Amino acid sequence: MADEGVEALLLSVGSDLPYLTGYRAMPLERLTMAIVRSSGPVTLVVPRLEAPRVEPADFVDVIPWDETDDPVAIVSASLEAPRRVAVGDETWSSFLLRLQDRLPGTRFVAASPLMSRVRIHKDATEIQSLRDAAAAADRVADRLASTRFSGRAERDLAAEVGSLLIEEGCNAVSFVIVAAGPNSASPHHEPGTRVMEEGDAVVVDFGGDVGGYHSDTTRTFHIGEPADRFRHVHDVVRQAQAAGVAAVAPGVPAEAVDRATRLVIEEAGFGEFFIHRTGHGIGMDVHEDPYIVEGNDARLEAGMAFSVEPGIYLPGELGVRIEDIVVVTAEGAEQLNTSDRGIRVVS
Ligand code: ZN
Ligand code: ZN
Ligand code: ZN
Repeated sequence: MADEGVEALLLSVGSDLPYLTGYRAMPLERLTMAIVRSSGPVTLVVPRLEAPRVEPADFVDVIPWDETDDPVAIVSASLEAPRRVAVGDETWSSFLLRLQDRLPGTRFVAASPLMSRVRIHKDATEIQSLRDAAAAADRVADRLASTRFSGRAERDLAAEVGSLLIEEGCNAVSFVIVAAGPNSASPHHEPGTRVMEEGDAVVVDFGGDVGGYHSDTTRTFHIGEPADRFRHVHDVVRQAQAAGVAAVAPGVPAEAVDRATRLVIEEAGFGEFFIHRTGHGIGMDVHEDPYIVEGNDARLEAGMAFSVEPGIYLPGELGVRIEDIVVVTAEGAEQLNTSDRGIRVVS
């Protein structure tokens, strides 16, 4: 903060606040905002009815506000007209706009460039949570291999994936994608009412959190014995994913991992059907820095965690994606997901 001339960091909803203090703001219309200065205690302005949720900590001064108070006025009054403040990226614009009105001489910048610099490096405890979350997701992937797919709607299977994540020890389901048949060509498909049938490729992408840290893994299933076309596409994606993981090492630019997966897919003639970046960082958020994308020349460092998830999406036909979370180590990468990456033939 001192380097960037930031006098205060204002954090509301999102993971920056729990990362620093352990307290997560409720994402509601009543303002919760922490004022973090470069030294001294954090001031936490919180609705009085939510104050009992705050665990007492000697580094947090809690200011509860009542229903008839103006919390934006309370925050601005405790700021003493700073020149520059950084605001958490997920802070609601309704609050930010009112803060800007009250502090016309203050320059507001995004908190993410600052927070990312600390959150991007995972310590041993964080890595263990990521490992535990990945292991829970892998057990779910294994259980899916003996689950019946055909005759069920995508959203029915998605609900089962969610229950399995909880059974395997996740605190909450982060998200579940089940995309079958032609829908598998839509990378972020919302599971719907389509009934799965013999001959469908089924992309299943899911994750849950353990200790506040997420998992995110994808395996592509096939209902019944696949045709050569699917086998070929799956094989290309599998090789691309392995090439991406093999490219991970400290000192390597993030974009080099993207190039490694893309090269395999381009050489197989499917380049135009790999329509997203190779991966994203993961931690307290499912998507965070570092992004594994062309143009990100930031160098990987030990302790960074991210996905390697190339895919090929043939519109109207089929899609294949394989995704694992990796952590950069001193030598290369630790692959947190280890469930079978081959074609999973299901009934
Ligand atoms: Zn995604
Ligand atoms: Zn995913
Ligand atoms: Zn992902």
